[in-house]
Amino acid sequence: MIKTSEDKFKEASEAFEVLGDKEKRSRYDQFGHAAEGMGSGMRGSGAAGGNGFGDVFGDIFSDFFSGSPGDSTSRGERGSDLQYNMEISFEDAVFGSSKEIDVPRMETCDSCSGLGAESEKDIKICGTCGGTGQQRVQQGFFSVATTCSSCRGRGKTISNPCKTCQGRTRVSKTKRIRVNIPAGVSSGSRIKLTGEGEHGVNSGSSGDLYIVLSVKDHSIFERDGADIFCEVPISFTQATLGTDLEVPTLEGKARLKIPTGTQTHKIFRLKNQGIAQLRGGGRGDLHVRIVVETPTKLSERQIELLNEFDDCCDDESNPIRDKFVKSIKNLFT
Ligand SMILES: [Zn+2]
Ligand SMILES: [Zn+2]
Repeated sequence: MIKTSEDKFKEASEAFEVLGDKEKRSRYDQFGHAAEGMGSGMRGSGAAGGNGFGDVFGDIFSDFFSGSPGDSTSRGERGSDLQYNMEISFEDAVFGSSKEIDVPRMETCDSCSGLGAESEKDIKICGTCGGTGQQRVQQGFFSVATTCSSCRGRGKTISNPCKTCQGRTRVSKTKRIRVNIPAGVSSGSRIKLTGEGEHGVNSGSSGDLYIVLSVKDHSIFERDGADIFCEVPISFTQATLGTDLEVPTLEGKARLKIPTGTQTHKIFRLKNQGIAQLRGGGRGDLHVRIVVETPTKLSERQIELLNEFDDCCDDESNPIRDKFVKSIKNLFT
């Protein structure tokens, strides 16, 4: 299928969501870790990452233009977690796979190495607040502290912002990331890629990337945990006389002996032909459900033969039907 650029854009924007707040994160915490190697809980936001240069120049680098007051301490700000919704084929879920995805995210500006300024000399202590990030305003008897309007609470100002990032310290980039999908995943399975979320600010650690999988339906197989189900239609004659069938399996084909007199919806189990279980414990089974097809569009000759066949039938031919008919009779007499 050829996708238009509009489709691709739509996919990309739908596939991507920034997990910016704790509430959303805790929601994702509730996912069971369905696959080995998938992470559990989330780290808290705003983890302290300040050291070296970051400690000195502190929060000026975080959200420089956002206008939010932030915490006025010299600590790094952790990058946001990201969620990527990935649709995979039935086969990829069953056998595992390795895929490359393009993840748009904020990365530390290469030009200024996250400084936000053209050089360290361009960063000054804010003249209005003297570096505290706060101004005191008299209101009646009280003196109220408000966020400094000159530096937006950062305590520092940049006289010559970095031209690449305009002082934001991060730039929007697209990172190609390889995702290894373990065999046996299912829709809702989540893969955590630690540190592959958005880069932090001011030496803050990077967020994490969460790949949330949804598995496409298969044209013939249905899945229930590690077991798979497949309906195989056979003719009335095959069901009656028995036959040697070729049935589809995950790996290809298998022979299945259908005994004489097989009823419709009879299920045959092929052991260990299902899906590998994520936490070990072997493979599930393949359940082949036989569906007997009633012949349609019969020719005169076929009708004639079937009528002749019916005339030859006796009490032994259709015991299930005969038993039912008898019990109905008993019911109303
Ligand atoms: Zn820059
Ligand atoms: Zn200030």
